[in-house]
Amino acid sequence: MRPFFLILVATAAAWADQLQVGRAAVVITPEPGTPMAGYYSIRLATGTHDDLQAKAIVFAKDGKKAAMVACDLVAIPAHTVEEARRLASQSTGIPGENIIISATHSHTGPIIIGRGARDAQYGGNHPAVKRFMEGLPGKIAEAIGKANAALTPARASVGVGKDGSVAFNRRFHMKDGSVGWNPGKLNPNILRVAGPIDPDVAVALFETTDGKPLATYVNYACHLDTVGGTEWSADYPYTLSKILGGVKGNDMLTLFTIGTAGNINHVDVTNKLPQKGHQEAARIGTVLAGEVLKTYTRLTPVEDAPLVTRRERIQLAPAKVTPTDVDRAKTIAAKVGTADNPKFIDTVFAFKALDAEARKGQAYDTDIQVISLGKQAAWVSLPGEVFVELGQAIKQASPFPITIVVELAHGPTTYIPNRAAFPQGNYEVVSSRCDIGSGEHLVETAVKLLKEAYQQ
Ligand SMILES: [Zn+2]
Repeated sequence: MRPFFLILVATAAAWADQLQVGRAAVVITPEPGTPMAGYYSIRLATGTHDDLQAKAIVFAKDGKKAAMVACDLVAIPAHTVEEARRLASQSTGIPGENIIISATHSHTGPIIIGRGARDAQYGGNHPAVKRFMEGLPGKIAEAIGKANAALTPARASVGVGKDGSVAFNRRFHMKDGSVGWNPGKLNPNILRVAGPIDPDVAVALFETTDGKPLATYVNYACHLDTVGGTEWSADYPYTLSKILGGVKGNDMLTLFTIGTAGNINHVDVTNKLPQKGHQEAARIGTVLAGEVLKTYTRLTPVEDAPLVTRRERIQLAPAKVTPTDVDRAKTIAAKVGTADNPKFIDTVFAFKALDAEARKGQAYDTDIQVISLGKQAAWVSLPGEVFVELGQAIKQASPFPITIVVELAHGPTTYIPNRAAFPQGNYEVVSSRCDIGSGEHLVETAVKLLKEAYQQ
């Protein structure tokens, strides 16, 4: 009996040190009739094409735990992130600062309360939205709790594929000297594209120690705005999950997060092909799934190294507006929804100026988080919809061979352009609730945290 007992003890000890991974998903689809997000108009949901979910992966190693959650939502405001972390921490013991909660940016989810004047105009005060927002932190915490309960010894492997065929920078230098935003297909006034895309298709595969797939984590920088219509849908990650599940088994969770895609969407202006609807979402999801399947064959196993987390609280200065801006904004806002409906960009300006005025100069509290497993790969989370140039700057300066940058992981839920874009103006810049330099502040902090994590 004695030698057998010793073997058992030795096995248990080895398990305690080994990486464990758990995963779970919770349906968060709102009730029909709830106002939908994504555009400058009111539209009420009529049904469900595919369920919206909060998907969670929990890591445990050497007594330490961390979690990553992606929600099929256009954004998640800061207070929802904080409340979900608090609830999850209470039920699982995972420290809130080790929990990254992000939105995928699906435009076929509910409107999200937390973006001021604009939300109020487009259905943010609807009782169904309020009910949804009240229940959301609990559902996110439930996903983390289930993933935590499902922890099992696991191995991880990581890799990066490339696809430059479905993502496009949507800002263009125009012949009149301006910078255009989504200028339209085959627009003859386009001179050249104003910025890059990030073709990285980051893949992390988690399997049990005997090779059963647990979860695939995928990150790609492109807006989730392909479906349209009035049915709930996770957009192209729905197809991505379906195809990967078909190959690896439906027990496997596919968790998609959006990379820095503030100025990146799926619209190809060089042809006339229609690009809206479920078929377009299916096309993009299929292309990405294909790249993930190819990347599976050349993943690098993650070495047996500590689970490292870092978090820094930072403050972002709000956009500055003048009294003249505010007066103009009030005049424009009064016309929204009337027969004299203002031009789109003027509406965008008006809601931004009113929100900026209401903040009275108060900075946005936010945070940046890093999770790393060994020296091969790290995740870094950022608030807002971040310009692709900023995400690329983080990847280039990061000491990790693979750095996965996740946007929309905290408030403020606003565009965060790079410094160079501000003087160029147009949609994202006009809309941004943050002051010039906020994006570079994110990069600086993210790179500092990544370097610290790498030294561990
Ligand atoms: Zn967006």
